[in-house]
Amino acid sequence: MEYEAVIGLETHVQLKTRSKMFGTSSAEYQNADPNTVVDAVSMALPGTLPVVNEKAIEYAMMIGMAINCNIARVTKFDRKQYTYPDLMKGYQITQLDEPICYDGYIDLPLDPPVRVRINRVHMEEDVARLVHVEGPQGGTIHSLLDINRAGTPLMEVVTEPDMRTSEQVESYITNLQHIIRYLGVGTANMEEGSFRCDANVSVRPVGQTELTTKVEVKNMNRVRAVVRAIEHEIERQIAVVESGERVVQETRGWDDGKGVTIPQRSKEEAHDYRFFPEPDIPPLVITEEWIDSTQAKMPELPIARKDRFVDEWGLNEYDADLLTAVRSTADYFEEVCAGVKASTADVKKAYAKEAANWLNGEMARMMNNDEISDMSQTRVKPAALATLVEKFRKRELNNNSAKQVFEVMYTKGTDPETVIKDLGLGMVSGADSLGPVVDEVIENNEKAVVDFLAGKEASLKFLMGQVMKATRGQADAAQATEMIREKLATRR
Ligand code: ADP
Ligand code: MG
Repeated sequence: MEYEAVIGLETHVQLKTRSKMFGTSSAEYQNADPNTVVDAVSMALPGTLPVVNEKAIEYAMMIGMAINCNIARVTKFDRKQYTYPDLMKGYQITQLDEPICYDGYIDLPLDPPVRVRINRVHMEEDVARLVHVEGPQGGTIHSLLDINRAGTPLMEVVTEPDMRTSEQVESYITNLQHIIRYLGVGTANMEEGSFRCDANVSVRPVGQTELTTKVEVKNMNRVRAVVRAIEHEIERQIAVVESGERVVQETRGWDDGKGVTIPQRSKEEAHDYRFFPEPDIPPLVITEEWIDSTQAKMPELPIARKDRFVDEWGLNEYDADLLTAVRSTADYFEEVCAGVKASTADVKKAYAKEAANWLNGEMARMMNNDEISDMSQTRVKPAALATLVEKFRKRELNNNSAKQVFEVMYTKGTDPETVIKDLGLGMVSGADSLGPVVDEVIENNEKAVVDFLAGKEASLKFLMGQVMKATRGQADAAQATEMIREKLATRR
């Protein structure tokens, strides 16, 4: 029997608003001391009332638009009751049946493409943070409560059960992360908890269209963990079915160290949340004007931008992918190429390829070393890099020298002309400058010449090395190789 997996994702995303979802204190709690960013509403003091954060609604609308959702004209909030020390009011304000956005989709750029339908995007509030303090013999002796996170805006994106493999899930997660970062509405960082996925997984015989019992898997804080948890869960469920038993509906937690999912809560133990409409917040009307003005703020999104980079700049898929994953990188690339935007397709393509090589190569390597993720935060200005690319393309610098120049540009922020002058760099090329150097190298390396003439190609490399040494690394490599070959050909 062949099985297929059916997977739906519920993703919580923290939105980067200035203040909290229903209260006035700062929503930037990540680096704050415990219990320093709080307000009466977020602490649930008696007599306080929630006020909806307009920006949070707008951000949710932007995400909804980016993933092709309908935007509700009226949206409402609901109370979800449960008791836990991290939930200040004893209930969470969320949205049950009239979410802000509904019925969208993301087309995953896989081969073949996969469409994942989006069921809904709604807003709710995050809970406080509990820190469990361990005693000397192990085990929790007491728990500390940090209220800073309580009430920060949390958006939930729920997919239909349209994914079939962990590869599709990985693609869904990275694409959603890219969209959120492009829109500038969140950091979408799994490790810091600003992007949290719960995976619903079931298995069924290939060909069957009815859904089967699903298991919800939680506690994954890296993309890699989501992928491993899903793969493990699929295998586990297939083994259950094969042994003639039934998969039971439950919530399981991922243990990253052991690489297994463990039961957390069965269907019987599920909460009865006793939802009812939030009486303190009237239904929220989203006007056409509000939708239009939000639409006007939407930037070009990563998948569209990648396609355009391939069409307009003639980049290959790989380069276009790397350059568009982060918005600041894509912006930077287009600034470097701005000077040739009006040129012919051939010139644009050649120039763009060169710029892409520098950005995805040397620049990415240096940024990686320094743990910088935003290209505009480096010391290299796009115009300065454009000059370097131009000089390199016009063969005023060879590969070695250009790299040397770039390194100084990157570490000191100096412009390329100054670096070239300071280091005395230039290209040694042409019969007048390079010719005599090549002659001398041939003269002084009789053995390599004889070997080469006897068919030993490696000797050419040696001779090239000597030319580079004599020119302090500044010879036009392609020309020098050509010259050595030509001059030696006459000796055969
Ligand atoms: P619940 O009533 O348990 O909350 P929902 O129908 O609201 O379930 O779906 C919650 C999530 O589970 C959604 O992301 C949905 O796509 C996914 N899902 C629903 N049924 C299945 C299934 N049989 N297999 C896998 N995922 C499923
Ligand atoms: Mg549900």
